[in-house]
Amino acid sequence: MKSEKLKVTITGTGIPHVAPGRAGAGVLVQSGTTQLQFDAGRATTLRLAEVGVATSDLTAMFLTHHHSDHCVDIDDILFNRWILRAGSLPVIVPDGPLSDFGERLLSAWRADLEIREHVTGRDPLSLDWRPFAARAESDVVFEHGGVTVRSVLVEHPPVEPAVAYRVDAGGHAVVVSGDTRTCDAVEKLSFGADVLVHEVALRELMPSGGDASVYSYHADAVDLGAMAERSGVETLVLTHLLPPPRSPDEEELFARRVRDGGFTGELIVGRDLWARVIDHGGDRR
Ligand SMILES: [Zn+2]
Ligand SMILES: [Zn+2]
Repeated sequence: MKSEKLKVTITGTGIPHVAPGRAGAGVLVQSGTTQLQFDAGRATTLRLAEVGVATSDLTAMFLTHHHSDHCVDIDDILFNRWILRAGSLPVIVPDGPLSDFGERLLSAWRADLEIREHVTGRDPLSLDWRPFAARAESDVVFEHGGVTVRSVLVEHPPVEPAVAYRVDAGGHAVVVSGDTRTCDAVEKLSFGADVLVHEVALRELMPSGGDASVYSYHADAVDLGAMAERSGVETLVLTHLLPPPRSPDEEELFARRVRDGGFTGELIVGRDLWARVIDHGGDRR
């Protein structure tokens, strides 16, 4: 137990628009043999492989909301795990449009799945799909090997429900915001967390002709800096950068605006495969 650490790895910092070097949304949290993947955006399977995690190694998968940039790789994860002959993967989702998403995916891929069953003689792919009722107050949605995962409703209208997750293990915690404008729920959920992985938007970098409406349901960088400071998190990792920064100067501008909001902790402008190990003793390295 003492030797186990909490490790967080950003598997993707991207948004729906394709940007070189940025896979779709995803965060891997590991503690001992417990390996939890939050969201499955574009190329998540590949990013996991790049950090030595096979789909068969995952303990559970969590989805934050039904936007495609967070779910588009879930079928690849499920099918790859099935090909590796690993057991069903628990997939934890907020009740709503995602409740029967797994069944609908299997239906869409039925012809291929049947061919593979026939050719290899393997058992049909069985789902372990676990919808939960998302609430305004945080609730435990998963426990395994001394690791507890809580979830809470966030604000990403018109997408409902959308949730954030908090992982606690050995007295340390990592929070994954999913997509949300800054809100009290994430502020409260993040209280005392070591690492907050939060989406961020910077309207001043919006390309001309861009759709300004998206900035109403994503987290303004200045507001996020203020919220993260109030929550007292040690480390804030910016992800799902909207729009994706095209230069180090633009990355720096994201950081400057978060600082303008008043955040004084450690600030990371996320890139794919950024990782941090949090010792249960409290030391970081
Ligand atoms: Zn979204
Ligand atoms: Zn998104």
